[in-house]
Amino acid sequence: MLDPGRSAPMDRVSPSSLHALETCRLQVALGRQSTGVANVWNGRAVLGDACHHVLERLVTRGEIYASNWEGALGEAWEEELRTMAAQAAIHRVVDAPMRWPGAELTRARLTVVARRVRELLSGAGSDAEVLTEPTLRSRDGLLEGRLDLLVRGSSRHAVIDYKTGATVDPTSGTMREAYLTQLQLYSYLEWECSGSWPSEALLLPFNGPPLHIDVDPIACASRAQEARALLAAYNATAPGAQPASPTPQGCAYCPFSVECDAFWETVTPSWASEILAAEGAVIGVHESQLGTVNVQILAERGSVARGDCLVRGIRPGEHAVANRIAPGDTARATRLHLEADRGSYALPVWGGLMIVDESSRPSVEQTSWAQ
Ligand code: SF4
Repeated sequence: MLDPGRSAPMDRVSPSSLHALETCRLQVALGRQSTGVANVWNGRAVLGDACHHVLERLVTRGEIYASNWEGALGEAWEEELRTMAAQAAIHRVVDAPMRWPGAELTRARLTVVARRVRELLSGAGSDAEVLTEPTLRSRDGLLEGRLDLLVRGSSRHAVIDYKTGATVDPTSGTMREAYLTQLQLYSYLEWECSGSWPSEALLLPFNGPPLHIDVDPIACASRAQEARALLAAYNATAPGAQPASPTPQGCAYCPFSVECDAFWETVTPSWASEILAAEGAVIGVHESQLGTVNVQILAERGSVARGDCLVRGIRPGEHAVANRIAPGDTARATRLHLEADRGSYALPVWGGLMIVDESSRPSVEQTSWAQ
């Protein structure tokens, strides 16, 4: 059971934990408590991990340089499919991995990214040191990062990260702040470790062309100091409760929104463009002939309109709590999808569903495909 009243101290901060610290310290505390929780399934992350494994294998084995690199990629992907299927079965996901949302497209894009990696490495010089997934740590031990690819050559000195999700902020049209921070910290760490600044820092997205940043030593060092300051602030509060920072953008991607009281106390209908959520009394539960469950909630809080809120087609295989919900319960549902033609909502596999105060049973069944 997650406890928002406590937090474990952090030894160091990584680029991803830095962004989380900037977003919401409570999310960081809950995330550290939930590490290894067996009922959290993140399908998109599994696909993304598989792509990383394939690229890492091609580079490590030198297959990326070979003329038949696409054949090697196909073999590596088949191996990953078998691993993903086994993982999915543990989480009661019955579809074969290639039928998961976005799987075919991801596979096609993997070939594109692998070709870019091949081009990058071929331009690095014959003396280049190529490291896959190296862990870089600052001399004081407070900053650490593991990037996907590091190239130290006479013709190219580059820190590189692969991205299977969105890399561009839809509002600004520029690289997402979290990824800018990540590349700046990798550049800083590479400077601390090697004694020289990389000449290139770039993302290789799966859905677009490479994205570069200027490696500005002053900006990178400043970001490193900010990270140290945030780490100190977090540890000054641990092991007590960390402050919550509910925002539409932060909570929309937070896996803990369904059970986060700060979220429910803050969310309003004005958040609906970022996250759809409903909390209220359950006034009806109906099981369909297909085995899915429809839950009717009298919404009193959340971002949906107050009143009748029908959440349709919940698959108990994805949200086991649907089998336990009964009229009279108070239920919460987050990350809903509006079914505009029906005026109802769907609960995707990455959504959250819980019965409030279901103290004697697991409170959350949550599965995620999104990040
Ligand atoms: S739901 Fe929002 S406020 Fe709550 S932990 Fe997540 S990001 Fe923080």
